[in-house]
Amino acid sequence: MNPQKYINRIQRTIDSYFTKDTVIDALFISHFHNDHILGVTYLAKKCDIKRIILPQLTEAEKLAMFLEDLCDLDYGDSIDEMAKSWQTIFSEKYDRIEVLRDKVNVNDANQEIDLENLQDEIKSGQRVLFHGKWQYIPYNSPVKNVKVKELLDVAKEQCKEIFNGDKISFDELRKYLESDVNRDKLKSAYNDVFKKEKLNETSMTLYSGMLGCNQKCERQCGKAIHYANRYCTLNCLYLGDFEAKMLEYYNGLMEVYEPYFKHIGIIQVPHHGSNNNYNANLYSSSSPDKSSILHRICLVSADSNDEYGHPDEDVLDGIRKEGGIPILVTEFPKTKQVFRIRNE
Ligand SMILES: [Zn+2]
Ligand SMILES: [Zn+2]
Repeated sequence: MNPQKYINRIQRTIDSYFTKDTVIDALFISHFHNDHILGVTYLAKKCDIKRIILPQLTEAEKLAMFLEDLCDLDYGDSIDEMAKSWQTIFSEKYDRIEVLRDKVNVNDANQEIDLENLQDEIKSGQRVLFHGKWQYIPYNSPVKNVKVKELLDVAKEQCKEIFNGDKISFDELRKYLESDVNRDKLKSAYNDVFKKEKLNETSMTLYSGMLGCNQKCERQCGKAIHYANRYCTLNCLYLGDFEAKMLEYYNGLMEVYEPYFKHIGIIQVPHHGSNNNYNANLYSSSSPDKSSILHRICLVSADSNDEYGHPDEDVLDGIRKEGGIPILVTEFPKTKQVFRIRNE
């Protein structure tokens, strides 16, 4: 992959949305693949980020993500750019809130927490309130890839230098990677374990929606929904590169988001429309009385000459068959979709 292409495009996109010093109350990171974090350094320079909300990862998972990006990128500026993204996210400057894999329990005292009052960590499925009008519900799936541990063992065996006990020093790792020999050693350790798989199991998801939509939607926009045969486009489910195809992942996701599903009008299609992450159930959209199809907007982050072949044509057809409206959004900033909420 040529990351400069991404970086230029991301910067153009950021410029088309944000003016200098725009305050960003919360930046959610789905996972650490370079196509999801490369813009963060530029964004942090341009805007005033108040806090970063990210999935909690084990050291081994961080190493695996880092190596995966390393194998995907050409060495040189791009590795530096990637390392800078990690540094920005983990810099002292920001409040970081990690989303644990433990799920919020119905008996937990704090079912909802205001964004301003978040501490270092929250449980998966926690409702985070914003200005009493909006809610964010991040979900960090408890099922993870067993190969991560295997990779850690191989890396410990072959590249002892980067370990300090069980902990990896990412500064040491960066220095270690300056040598071609070391880089090849780590790349082959990674490739031996992971082959061509991608570690998307670490991808966090996010529901972003109007507070109290359950009642309000039926009262205020209920008629509009049926009139226009559309779900309420206020509420969005961001899926990052979530492994929706795998049943255990899908079931876990639905446990958390089931109550919100009939109010979700926009779905960000996981993994840029890849068939490996496609699950038709996500898009099935008959009205509650099964009398009509309610259309959902399905945003796909991919352009028409994506080098990985995203999005998959069968995925787009599948979405359309279920009533979804797929929209490709990263061709140019001109293709951006903006859904504004009127502040009354
Ligand atoms: Zn990914
Ligand atoms: Zn991705």
